[in-house]
Amino acid sequence: MTALPDPRTGWGLPALGALPRTADLEPLVTRVLAPNPSPMTLDGTNTYVVGAPGNGQAVLVDPGPDDAAHLAAVEAALGARGARCVAVLVTHHHGDHAEAALPWGQRFGAPVAAGSPAVAGPGGRVLEPGERLSLAGTAIDVVATPGHTADHLAFRLESGAVLVGDHVLGRGTSVVTHPEGDVVAYLESLRRVHDLGPSALYCGHGPELTEDPGAVLDFYLAHRAQREQQLLDALAAGAATVDQLVATVYAQVPREVWPAAAQSTRATLDKLAVEGRVVLGPAERVRTA
Ligand SMILES: [Zn+2]
Repeated sequence: MTALPDPRTGWGLPALGALPRTADLEPLVTRVLAPNPSPMTLDGTNTYVVGAPGNGQAVLVDPGPDDAAHLAAVEAALGARGARCVAVLVTHHHGDHAEAALPWGQRFGAPVAAGSPAVAGPGGRVLEPGERLSLAGTAIDVVATPGHTADHLAFRLESGAVLVGDHVLGRGTSVVTHPEGDVVAYLESLRRVHDLGPSALYCGHGPELTEDPGAVLDFYLAHRAQREQQLLDALAAGAATVDQLVATVYAQVPREVWPAAAQSTRATLDKLAVEGRVVLGPAERVRTA
């Protein structure tokens, strides 16, 4: 099966590893890249500093790993904006986004807000999808984006840009984790962000997507549909276990991301099983229904 055309191919995005440590993306937003690159985190985790210019306050979105060099870079970005941190928002509970939330929140005297109580912590706030936060001189809308994880949230800014965490990545595609993630919810979340008509997607990993965000969301939807068809084709061709499906469908991707691919595969098989199109057996055996 031919690969779907990725609309980002012609956009001249910076190569993997070439993102600047700190970048002003628009008047409301500075991005600080954490020094935690890996096959799963791409260039590293993007921490966003958000606030109205001259307001003297800023919000951190996804502080990332609790790393001294990253903290110094974030504090420098706050200083350059003349802002103090008044809140820490977190898109989802994975450590590459949330680890620093509580310690840095304590350091800055700022509450943590997230979709799950465990991330928000005892003094924090659990966010409700659809609520509008008035922080740092600007409005931030909380958008439900479950799928990658159950607690995943995105944040829409007044400029129309959406901070999407791991819902959409600046390069490649995201993972629907298993058993926590949910493919049906993920697809709904992609459509929900598409319907916002975002002016830009600021991703948890990789470069900002500004040229045609809707085209990226369309590509993600088509990619999921293609993976589903590839699984059904591989089953028809004789694959009979999750491992065999991964080895067939993800033959072109590096083996170090196969464990993540296996999670997306299991999550997709759960959807297909609910739809009555596959039957899941013991020891991760799978057959078409
Ligand atoms: Zn991540």
